[in-house]
Amino acid sequence: MSERPILILGGTAESALLARTLVSAGHRVISSLAGRTTKPSRPEGEVRVGGFGGPEGLASFIRDEGIAVLIDATHPFAERISDNAIRAAEIAHCAFVRLERPAWKRLPDDNWIGVPSLLNAVSAIPANANVLLALGRQHIAPFANRRDVRFTLRMIEPPDEPFDLPAYELVLAKPGSLHEEEAFLRNRQITHIICRNSGGSASYAKIEAARQLGLPVIMIDRPKRPSIHSVESVEDAVAFVETALGQSRLGRKE
Ligand code: NAP
Repeated sequence: MSERPILILGGTAESALLARTLVSAGHRVISSLAGRTTKPSRPEGEVRVGGFGGPEGLASFIRDEGIAVLIDATHPFAERISDNAIRAAEIAHCAFVRLERPAWKRLPDDNWIGVPSLLNAVSAIPANANVLLALGRQHIAPFANRRDVRFTLRMIEPPDEPFDLPAYELVLAKPGSLHEEEAFLRNRQITHIICRNSGGSASYAKIEAARQLGLPVIMIDRPKRPSIHSVESVEDAVAFVETALGQSRLGRKE
C-alpha cells in the first residue's frame, strides 16, 4: 500500500478495472479523464477531468501531487496523451508503465487489408463497395470524397449533425453477438468493413462474423509507439505498481 497516489490516465474499460483493483488493495488512486464524454462512467477512487497542458503540465501535476507511479491506460489510438505521458515521466522522474490491451491477431481465415492510417483506409476501398464504417463520428469526414461508395454507420448515440457523406445509412445500435453481426452484415449486403485494431472483446464479434462470411476487413493498424515499458493486462500493471512502490520504499530507507 502507498500513501503517495498512483495516477492512471484513463478513458478505457481496462483503466477502470485497474483503478478498482488498486483501490481494493488499499492504494490511493487518481484517475484522469480527458472530459470528452458528457456522462463518463466514474472510476473508483479519486477522479480529475481535463487536459494537463502538454507533457510539462502533466509533469507538474505529478510533482505537485507526489505521484508514486504513472500508468498510461488510455486507448490504443489516443496518441498525443501517450506521447505526453512518456515525456512527463522522464521530466518528473516518475515510475511509468503503459497498459495496452493486445491488438487483434489475424487468423488464417481472416481476409484483412492492413492499412496504416484512416486516409489509407479511404483509398483502400474498391469502387462501388458497400461498406460498414465501424468508426467513431470524429473519423467519418475523410470518407466524404468516396462518392462511389455506399456507407453504413453504426453508432450508440445519434450525432449532433448529419454526416457529410454522399450515400449512407445510420443505424443506432451497439455491437451485437456473432449471430447478430452475421445477420447485420448479410441483411445489408455489406461487402467490406472498415475498423481500427482496437483489440478487446467488446467489438470483436463483427471481425468473427466477417471471417465466417469471407468478407474483407480494412483494418487500420495501431499507431507506432516508441519502445516503452508496456504490459497487456491489469494483473501485470498491478505487479508493476507493487514492484515500483517496493523499490521506492527501499530507496527512501537507504
Ligand atoms: P489524444 O488525442 O491522445 O489527446 C489529446 C489531448 O487530450 C491530450 O494532449 C491531453 O491534453 C488530453 N487528454 C487525453 N486523454 C487524457 C486523459 N486521460 N486525461 C487528461 N487529459 C487527457 O486523446 P483522444 O484520442 O482524444 O482520447 C481522449 C480520451 O478518450 C483518452 O483518455 C482515451 O483513453 C479515451 N478514448 C479514446 C479513444 C480513441 O479512439 N482515441 C477511444 C476510446 C476512449 P493535454 O495535452 O492538455 O494534457
